[in-house]
Amino acid sequence: MILLDGKKTAATIKEEIAIEVEKIKKVGGKIPHLAALLVGADGASLTYVNSKVKACQKVGFNSTLIELPDNTTEEQLLYEIELLNRDTDIDGYIVQLPLPKHIDEQKVLMAVDPHKDVDGFHPTNVGKMTLEIPTFLPATPYGIIELLERYAIETSGKNVVVIGRSHIVGRPISILLSQKRKTGNATVTLCHSRTRNLKELTLKADIIVVALGIAEFLKGDMVKKGAVIIDVGITRIKDKSRKSGYRLAGDVDFESVSKKASYITPVPGGVGPMTIAMLLKNTLLAVQNK
Ligand code: NAD
Repeated sequence: MILLDGKKTAATIKEEIAIEVEKIKKVGGKIPHLAALLVGADGASLTYVNSKVKACQKVGFNSTLIELPDNTTEEQLLYEIELLNRDTDIDGYIVQLPLPKHIDEQKVLMAVDPHKDVDGFHPTNVGKMTLEIPTFLPATPYGIIELLERYAIETSGKNVVVIGRSHIVGRPISILLSQKRKTGNATVTLCHSRTRNLKELTLKADIIVVALGIAEFLKGDMVKKGAVIIDVGITRIKDKSRKSGYRLAGDVDFESVSKKASYITPVPGGVGPMTIAMLLKNTLLAVQNK
């Protein structure tokens, strides 16, 4: 079994980006600037946003974190978005999800300027991605593709099972892997909460992408020997023995599945760091597109 080391791969990608930033600096070009909008004080969201901001600093980007209180109205948030759309120094920005329940997420995502939509969530960018027109790919699926590519894992003609149909992970990765592209050309089955006989399908899969948000859901007896396992899930599980009070669990039961897998991503240190690296790559692309 080979560990798909997302932490190490993401560090390599960040080094590559830092070199690009140095080149930009040398010629007096525009330093990439990523902004993040965070509404409310959700612990996990704050951790994610902070690691994105830190990653920006590491590669030499400028970054801005805009923290808004829980009771921010939809109108106020849309106003902040308008300011970011108009700000010529901001190349790309993200609105950290989930948003408080009183805010319409779709309305907010629609308000983001597609040219600055480095999360790749705007319908214009989702449409372009689907039609294979170059654009910002959503960071998590993009990270999965990059990880498979850098470990030279063949996807062409393989049976892929994706578990979870979210707009940010399951749906886009199923589209990308089925496309006629280098890391693509797979036969993809997209599974979800209404799928019957999931185990029958996973047992036939050469590659399984698990993104459903149920800790340790995929067990060893659901996996064919030699399968490639991509674990996207991140669930905080209470753990008094840890300083933080919790541990992170993936959607894969690592203990039993790693005994069958040929390649597997760990949690933490797998898809998570790749997501951040690809967000930076998209921000660099936003500058290059200008
Ligand atoms: P989600 O939470 O929006 O949706 C869950 C999906 O799982 C749904 O499509 C549902 O149909 C499916 N599902 C639920 N129960 C199922 C079952 N029993 N069998 C089959 N399918 C079932 O999905 P999401 O936003 O993609 O999040 C999934 C997980 O990935 C979460 O743990 C989240 O924290 C994590 N995540 C990680 C990253 C990262 O960078 N590593 C990024 C995004 C999400």
